[in-house]
Order: sequence, then structure tokens, then C-alpha cells
Amino acid sequence: MVKEAAYQKCINPKCGAQFDTGQSIFKCPNCGDLLDILYDWDKIEVPAKMSDFAKRWAGRDNRLDFSGVWRFRELLNFCDDKHKVSVGEGQTILQCNDFIAKEIGMKNGCLHLQYEGMNPSGSFKDNGMTAAFSHAKKVGAISCACASTGNTSAAVALYAHSVGIKCTVFIGSGRIAFGKLSQAMDYGAQTIQIRGDFDDCMRQVQDVCTELGLYLLNSLNPFRLEGQKTIMYRIIEAMQWNIPDWIVVPGGNLGNSSSFGKAFMELKQLGLINKIPRLAIINASGADTLDYLVNKKNLKWNKGYVDNSIIDDFYAELTAKKFSPHTCASAIEISRPVNLKKCLRAIDVCNGVVISVPDNEIVDAKALIGKYGLGCEPASAATVAGLKHLLADGVISTDETVACVLTGHALKDPNVTVNYHKERQGCYSNPPVEVDNDLQKIISLIK
Ligand SMILES: *Cc1c(COP(=O)(O)O)cnc(C)c1O
Ligand SMILES: [Zn+2]
Repeated sequence: MVKEAAYQKCINPKCGAQFDTGQSIFKCPNCGDLLDILYDWDKIEVPAKMSDFAKRWAGRDNRLDFSGVWRFRELLNFCDDKHKVSVGEGQTILQCNDFIAKEIGMKNGCLHLQYEGMNPSGSFKDNGMTAAFSHAKKVGAISCACASTGNTSAAVALYAHSVGIKCTVFIGSGRIAFGKLSQAMDYGAQTIQIRGDFDDCMRQVQDVCTELGLYLLNSLNPFRLEGQKTIMYRIIEAMQWNIPDWIVVPGGNLGNSSSFGKAFMELKQLGLINKIPRLAIINASGADTLDYLVNKKNLKWNKGYVDNSIIDDFYAELTAKKFSPHTCASAIEISRPVNLKKCLRAIDVCNGVVISVPDNEIVDAKALIGKYGLGCEPASAATVAGLKHLLADGVISTDETVACVLTGHALKDPNVTVNYHKERQGCYSNPPVEVDNDLQKIISLIK
């Protein structure tokens, strides 16, 4: 039998076990490490140049050409077209923003914002879900689950019902932003609120899925990461296939950063690009595991031979301290990121850097983006907050081209926004002014 072009492979080089894509296992059954989706590129007819993908815009009445994910289908070729699901994800834009560039001291034409808030569920998660749900279709899943800080649950709920799969979402009590919670309920997901934080939910959902045979949709799911690669394809597409000097992304469970590294690694391998951008991953100070392990403990990919003891020791410390992460950027409020090792590989491939930024800088950056660009949620704004530091430290220079990934829509978390302005929390606070119902008094207020 001819082996399929795509297969799953354990990322641990000491194991390297392989599985076909008809299985939904999510972790290596041999060693428990993460799985990767790999391709025999010889068996796939990949277009000769990236611009060939863009030609598909002409055929937008074909649902797969319309999708900003499946337009690039040869680069995530793990299922037949009949299994591919789409709700019109990936119609996103890359905005070159000179106002914000000026405000943070960058040259004109250098700062780009990749706005993933335009996805059907309002965050980049849809890029991953369209791929994972296609795999779920392929394996005939009838019921699925995820743990979520909010956006995963919104995206899962949206896709599950539109493709006819039952779903349960697990969220931590009191930690979820209002917009996101409203979506899970509205899209009909069974929503279970665990008295705990995201890391608690993540642990429980894995056991629940194993016990009940539910299809797992966290970014542990390697098929999700395949879909998220297309965010990078669309950025370079919008730059006429030029590669920016830097990609800046918030770091939570580290699925995005991992998939971005994989995207560029593969494009380089295929000869479709000749340069790999550098990657800057931004943690929130209150959830800075990656920053700590990379910068303080010197944790490295090391060709896959990751020093697990560094990670285990740190997690044991967190457990002993009963540490729970805290940041207003709820989407990245995660202290045990499941894709940590894949992210280390991305840092290796992209010569990446990691820093953390405090909440007060995140909310200021969020208001700056809102004022001059595109509204986004707090986690997304960590990119611009981090970029300011990287410019100040001379890591990124003011004339380099940078693409910040704005991962989620502003309306996801209205509370943070309203509080920032009404309570005058920062330099861009813009609270409403109250006035008597009197024409002259009203006119006297107009600036
Ligand atoms: C999920 C999410 C993140 C974190 O992404 P990871 O891939 O888990 O690192 C950041 N921002 C938003 C808006 C999210 O929904
Ligand atoms: Zn393994």
C-alpha cells in the first residue's frame, strides 16, 4: 500500500514513533511527547511559487479557495477535500500602520498589524479549528472537547455545530472574558466551569477525552497547528511574498509560535522562501514560564534533546508554591504551556527571542492600537508592548520590518477596555464625559 503523504511523528528524537493520520492520539502513546504532522513532499504537488496560491482569489466561489486556510491546502495536505470543513475563516488583513509606528519610534512602512480578529469567531483560533475539525471529520468523530481561556471554546463551539459534532468546553471559574463566554453559550456548547484555572482545565480535559473517547481540540492537537501556519502565509502574501524581519506574537499555550516556526521551516525546505524571519514571543509578566525557562534557565531545543529536568523542576516549584498565573491578558494566562517544546524548536529555527511585559503596558498598548489601528484584546496587544521593549533594547531596529499578530478582536473583552478608560488607568484613557441635557452645555464640551 502506498503510504499517505502525511503522517504523525513524535518530536522526541529518542522515540520518533510514527502514526498515520487516521488516528486521533494527540500525544505519543510510546513516550507521551508531542506529535508533529510531517509530509512526504514528493507525493504532494506543491505549487512552484508562493504567488500561485494567491491566484486562487480568482476562484472565490470555490469554498476551499475562499478559505484563507485551505487556499494553501497543499501545505497542510492531511485529508481529502471532502473532509475539509470551512466557515469562511482566514479573511484577515495585514495593515501597515505608520501612526503606531511613529508613536513607538519606528520608521514609516515598517510596522504591520496582522488582524486575526476578523475571523468568524473573532480570533486566530479559527485557522486551527478548520484544520482540526477536518481531521475530526476524517476520523469520524461525533463528540469533541477542549479546555479554554475563552477563544478556543468560542471557536470550537462555532465549528462543532456547523459541522455536526457535539461539543463540551471546559473553562476556569471567573477567568474567562465576557465576550468569549457569551459565544460558547450562544453557539450551543455544553460549558463546564471548573473551580480552578486554565492549567487545571487542561489536565482534566485530557483525562476526560481519554476516558470518553472525545476528540480533543486544544493546541496539543497537531492538526490545529497545521491550520495556524497559514497566518504566516497570509502575512507574506500581503507583503508581496517578501519576508518581514520580525514576527511578533503573544505566547500562551505556544501553539501559534510553534506553528509559525514550522511554517517557515517547511517553506525554506521546499525552496519557496529564501529567508526565515526572526520570531519575538511575548509573555505577560504574570504568566512568564517561557521567558523564565529560556532566559533564566537557558532551556533550548538542542536538536530535540530538550533537558526535561529543567521543565519538571520548574513545574514542581509552581505546584509547591500553588502558583496560579495572573494577567489581564486572559488568553495568555497559562503557566504550563503544552507546546513548550515545539516552541523551543521555533525559537531555534527563527533565531527567536522571548520577553515578558507587565499588564499596565499591555493595556496602554491595547489602547494605542485601538486609537490608531484595529481594536484587539489584551493578549494581542502584548505584541506592541513587547515591541516597544525590543526597540528600546536595540534587539529590533527602527527600520526593520515587523509584523505583530493581533490574535483576537477588541470586543472579546469589553471589561478590560471599559475599565481602562473609565478608571483612567493609562496614558491613552479616554473616558466619556457626562453632561446635563442642555444644548449650550453640550456644545461647550465639543473639542
Ligand atoms: C489563544 C490565544 C493566544 C495564545 O496563543 P497560543 O498559541 O496559545 O500561544 C493569544 N491571544 C489570543 C487572543 C488567543 O485567543
Ligand atoms: Zn514518542
